[in-house]
Amino acid sequence: MDAALLPGVGMVKTVVDAAAVAATVVDPEIPVLTISDLGILRDVSQDEGSVVVTITPTYSGCPAMRQIEDDIVSVLRGAGFDDVSVKTSHNPSWTTDWINDEGRRKLAEFGIAPPTGEHEILCPRCEASEPRIVARFGSTACKALMACSSCGEPFDYFKQF
Ligand SMILES: [Zn+2]
Repeated sequence: MDAALLPGVGMVKTVVDAAAVAATVVDPEIPVLTISDLGILRDVSQDEGSVVVTITPTYSGCPAMRQIEDDIVSVLRGAGFDDVSVKTSHNPSWTTDWINDEGRRKLAEFGIAPPTGEHEILCPRCEASEPRIVARFGSTACKALMACSSCGEPFDYFKQF
């Protein structure tokens, strides 16, 4: 039997590949952050050649989620996975605690103060504390616009929730 005629031989993609490809999708609002950094990529599974990606939305009504879903499908199709579906899981709900250390570092580099929880918010430029709140809702609903009390620069703060 000629192995070359067997369907799929030589072009089998493993679930690890699909997961790695899905993990490269970035948040359209903060393009330095991947959905893996954000912690919203929950699971990638493969069943009979179809890939099912499970994500947890950051918060309901976030307009970026729709684009993230589209991007997951298109990046996987581009990698050769034709049958891709995206499921959303709301339980447990996403919190900013799911943003990994790499994601927090990238946020600060991008000029956005990462969510701090109980800790003080620090200016991503000069690390001064006690910034002033300029607007509770900044460029997007999940960020607040702050102004540094030391260097005076405005910056976004990714709100803890
Ligand atoms: Zn500052």
